[in-house]
Amino acid sequence: MAGKKIVVLGGGIGGVVAANKLRHLLKEDRIIVIDQSPVHSFTGSYVWILNGKRTPAQVERNLSRLSKKGIEFVQGHVSGIDPVACRIWADDIEVGYDYLVVSLGADLDPESIPGLCCTGINIYTPDGLERAHQELLKFEGGRIVIAVCRRPHKCPAAPYEAALIVDSVLRQRGVRGKAEIEMVTWEPAPMPVAGPAMGEAVLSMIKPKGIVYRNKAAINSFDPDNNRLSLEGGKDVPYDLLLYVPPHKCAQVVRDAGLTGDGGWVPVDPGTLATRHENLFVIGDAAAVKLPDGKKMLPKAGVFAHKHAETVAAEIAARIEGKAAPAPYHGEGYCFIDTGAGTAGFAKGNFYAEPNPRIEARSPSKLLHWGKLGFEKYWFWKYL
Ligand SMILES: Cc1cc2nc3c(=O)[nH]c(=O)nc-3n(C[C@H](O)[C@H](O)[C@H](O)COP(=O)(O)OP(=O)(O)OC[C@H]3O[C@@H](n4cnc5c(N)ncnc54)[C@H](O)[C@@H]3O)c2cc1C
Repeated sequence: MAGKKIVVLGGGIGGVVAANKLRHLLKEDRIIVIDQSPVHSFTGSYVWILNGKRTPAQVERNLSRLSKKGIEFVQGHVSGIDPVACRIWADDIEVGYDYLVVSLGADLDPESIPGLCCTGINIYTPDGLERAHQELLKFEGGRIVIAVCRRPHKCPAAPYEAALIVDSVLRQRGVRGKAEIEMVTWEPAPMPVAGPAMGEAVLSMIKPKGIVYRNKAAINSFDPDNNRLSLEGGKDVPYDLLLYVPPHKCAQVVRDAGLTGDGGWVPVDPGTLATRHENLFVIGDAAAVKLPDGKKMLPKAGVFAHKHAETVAAEIAARIEGKAAPAPYHGEGYCFIDTGAGTAGFAKGNFYAEPNPRIEARSPSKLLHWGKLGFEKYWFWKYL
């Protein structure tokens, strides 16, 4: 094949969308996706692992399916990126590139909080969600704590979906009356970047269910022997079952390549996702996207990784074909909040609006739940 070589690091949401869109736009150029995992695991369906409607295997697809579309897939752990020499290393291979799209996501880092490695269940992995589901099926009463440990964490809605689903599973089993459910989070209000109305909308979903909401709670450590977590200021919170969202950090290889900035993520142009290296783009969770107020950051979520990927693919294709630069990304985003009880809420808006993001929330309905189910089907059909 003649043409340029575009390497996409990561076969998660951003990587898979970028590769598909690039293939659609460019016929002659090589597109290579590299991921350490042989499968893509679709996080948009993860909430349904917690209530047993899906297994981890049901939300996976082999990345080798990309080859049917003329996209090369290489399984390998990316261990080096040289943005000056335009080369990357993965296991025992070395690959040069004309354009590089980095979509390596966020690594989970439970070891960074004392005690967390030896207690509770990490609900940000498919296996953890499945274990949590099994625990909920056995639960006969006591305190369930859902702890959101550090900022930033991906999918701001996911911990609230988890709380609602825990509630619904226990109700279906007839044991909700024997359980206390408490959320402990650093957030001042639910999904704070989306503004106070969004926070109120989420609280109006969890509070009527009797879920206790402990906000602005900075967690210092966990005590696995006594099933307690300690907050800054000295207060302890006991639990019988702990479900947690661990701290996140940027992938080691991205940090080693010198791409990250002060906050530990990669600073990029909010419109083009360009970095300071001309032919290297960083998208999705690995990117640090500053909102127009200069303080807030774009949340880490699949919907943004998806939009970033489309933007960057269009930009690379335009450069290769010598066409005018395409429209930049304007900050649109949306998300579903599934309740686990056959309904879902929805929020949609513009995160780049000034002076603050403009987001509208819709109350939970069956139609929106079907919308989320339909989106899952569409996603697999379109991309894998
Ligand atoms: C429980 C849960 C529910 C969520 N629900 C939603 C939702 O409903 N809607 C939404 O918008 N977002 C949701 N998200 C967030 C969403 O999954 C992420 O924001 C999104 O996947 C980010 O896309 P990405 O391409 O940046 O990274 P990812 O999709 O995480 O992909 C990163 C890829 O890089 C690979 N990788 C990492 N390091 C290396 C390496 N060194 N070498 C090789 N490969 C490597 C990984 O294997 C992975 O395949 C959810 C997340 C979780 C955990």
